[in-house]
Amino acid sequence: MAEVKKFVCSHCRYLLEVSDRGHPYFLSDEGKPQFFSEAPREEQVEAFLQHSAGRELAGQERAAFLAQRTGTMSDMLCVDCGGKFKRDVDRQELVCPGRKCHSNNVFAVWHLEGKTCPSCKTGHFKLKRLTAVP
Ligand SMILES: [Zn+2]
Ligand SMILES: [Zn+2]
Repeated sequence: MAEVKKFVCSHCRYLLEVSDRGHPYFLSDEGKPQFFSEAPREEQVEAFLQHSAGRELAGQERAAFLAQRTGTMSDMLCVDCGGKFKRDVDRQELVCPGRKCHSNNVFAVWHLEGKTCPSCKTGHFKLKRLTAVP
């Protein structure tokens, strides 16, 4: 089960939707984030381990490798320019990638409640609906 939140701006009705599932990814051998596609997740993790570890890993060694090379990115919103992007909040710098923006006024969409709307700069985001999806 995942949860989906819908936020709406109190002024201009700007609507945003986000799932708590996020975007699972692994780091390629070149250190670039590559997103896992939708299910089946286990098979993709195995393929990644075989390709990148180069040998069988088990137990702690496997857990450590996965901790180092995989993560989850969250949907982010810059409340200054309205730019949307993805970041691993545990690992990456939280700065807007917008060319002229570089604001650090960025938030995970999941935690957007009460933040100022970047579209009208007047309203605030309110939680419209929280639903559970399979
Ligand atoms: Zn608005
Ligand atoms: Zn920005």
